[in-house]
Amino acid sequence: MPSKVVATINSTGRQAASFIRAAAAVGWHVKAQIRNREGLVYDELSELPNVEFIEGDLAGPQRKQILDNLFSGAKIAFVNTTHWGDEVAIGKACADAAKRAGIVHYVYSSMPDHSTFGKNWRALPMWSSKFAIENYVRQIGIPATFTYTGIYNNNFTSLPFPLFQMELQDDGSFVWQAPFHPDDPLPWLDAEHDVGPALLAIFKKGPNHWKGQRVTLAFEKLTPVQCCARFSKGLGRPVEYVHGPIHVSVSIPSGYREHLEILQDTLGNKRAPYFGPDLEYPREGRSIWEGWRGIEEYAREVFPIEEYNNGLRWMEEGTEGGMATPSESSSTRPTTPAGQPMQHMALSGAYTPRSHPEGMDGDMFVGSV
Ligand code: NAD
Repeated sequence: MPSKVVATINSTGRQAASFIRAAAAVGWHVKAQIRNREGLVYDELSELPNVEFIEGDLAGPQRKQILDNLFSGAKIAFVNTTHWGDEVAIGKACADAAKRAGIVHYVYSSMPDHSTFGKNWRALPMWSSKFAIENYVRQIGIPATFTYTGIYNNNFTSLPFPLFQMELQDDGSFVWQAPFHPDDPLPWLDAEHDVGPALLAIFKKGPNHWKGQRVTLAFEKLTPVQCCARFSKGLGRPVEYVHGPIHVSVSIPSGYREHLEILQDTLGNKRAPYFGPDLEYPREGRSIWEGWRGIEEYAREVFPIEEYNNGLRWMEEGTEGGMATPSESSSTRPTTPAGQPMQHMALSGAYTPRSHPEGMDGDMFVGSV
């Protein structure tokens, strides 16, 4: 058994899967909790060396047993809870199990509770549960670091999902409508590309370096208008930002609807910063991991593939204005898939809202922003 044995939960989620790819590649032994052995991401992770799966649902009655098995023999852990089941109970149970197992460095993927800043901002429900778990981890005194994740680049999709829909127009251009003020900076993160290497670096420095700190995982600070400009450059098509309300045109769970309503009020109307007023980005993330993928590169190299995998074919057609393809518009970049036939392209780990276990449940879009 190698000296670095690391435990993860929700291992097919974008954050944990990114970390597992990086940890397995450098020879760490990963104990990875999964709910079941299904799906594209599981298929991919199961091909990796050094990954041992611990199967079981943390929302179910076997939680303690699964977690004791998971943390046994592990020295370090990356824990990213989700809103499936009672998130706070699961998060506390993970921390308790890590403490019992003597985990020496526990990284928890947290998020802010905007109601704590004394500014009449409402807490976003799917984030404040993480903040409650962070407080519990601090209380029980395990050596921990707390990562705060920016907006994932691959939230964007042209499918009609709320908040990050890049809506395809008749002329081949795209429009992103969201409640964020056009001039307010937002943190951006390519979760699949950058969470893994950043976590490797965080674990390498160890818990004494971080001393219970919050670490922002966001590699670009861009206003919505700047984000669209970079997206447009990468894609080689016009991308316009429209400041407007969140459209919900598919069924979503009531909890997610409430989360989006409060997000619109707190981050949109009240213009609260995404991480609250105190946390700095992107200098910190960039000092941890220099090889990050920005939104322009994402738009150029990944977005068309994810879209293609979702059954969309706009990338095979030109735009009305005849805008250049990305490979024509940027000589410094490698040839990209946009505008190319995609049948033979496969991107390891690329996943799409439809193909992900949490992305689409029948007709229901189960968001996790
Ligand atoms: P993900 O959205 O990529 O996948 C979710 C995971 O949850 C999958 O592995 C899925 O299998 C699993 N899951 C657990 N219980 C399930 C159940 N009962 N049914 C179906 N699936 C179940 O995961 P991720 O992006 O690594 O983490 C999600 C968390 O990240 C959320 O809590 C979200 O609030 C947070 N987050 C997201 C963003 C963003 O921009 N998307 C930003 C900050 C924080």
